[in-house]
Amino acid sequence: MKNIIFISSPAAGKGTQAEKLEKKYNLAHISTGDLLRNEVKSVSEMGKMLDKIMKEGKLVSDDVVTTLLKNKLNTHECDNGFILDGYPRNINQAKTLDKILDEINKKINYVINLDVDYDTAMKRSCGRLQCKNCGKIYNKYSENLKPSIDGKCDKCGEVIYQRSDDNEESFKIRFNTYQESTKPLIEYYNNKGILFKVDSSKTVEEVFSTIENIIGK
Ligand code: AMP
Repeated sequence: MKNIIFISSPAAGKGTQAEKLEKKYNLAHISTGDLLRNEVKSVSEMGKMLDKIMKEGKLVSDDVVTTLLKNKLNTHECDNGFILDGYPRNINQAKTLDKILDEINKKINYVINLDVDYDTAMKRSCGRLQCKNCGKIYNKYSENLKPSIDGKCDKCGEVIYQRSDDNEESFKIRFNTYQESTKPLIEYYNNKGILFKVDSSKTVEEVFSTIENIIGK
């Protein structure tokens, strides 16, 4: 079974790599960021509150994210394996995840830590574009990751946009949040013997190939 967690600083490439794994290995791709962005679209009071927190680059409360995640993990979509992209983000969420997985008789097999330096991640963040409809990720600074037609998604033809938290100011806060809250997870999963570090400053294809060697083709 391929049940995978990605841990990385913002804009290290977890969404891009998760999308490739999803396609090739028929895994469920669960991005808590995408689940939250969907909630924001619903313009409810809750949506407005989430929008503000996310724009500022801070973490949303564990309860909100965990509820969204739990609903997804319980679906048949995950029967063939799943990729968690953006969860857990702190030790409390990791412990909650352990409990949820115990209850549904599942376990994580691989935790992939995508490692990239601050400057590369900042540049990727400021160039990132995403489809409003299907979530596909592009990058205006990379020839290989540009859409074929400016402003339109190659996959579904919808509009692509720049996320409101993909700017220098939000990136700095998100990076600090990663250092403080998320980085300790590396030790947590290393102690469980399921952590694999991958140099994510390489090309998308090189990183993907390294990940495939870890999880077995
Ligand atoms: P991402 O798409 O993974 O970069 O996440 C975008 C934003 O959504 C983050 O900066 C947080 O504000 C929020 N978010 C995503 N996942 C989580 C999580 N597991 N816990 C708390 N907040 C989250």
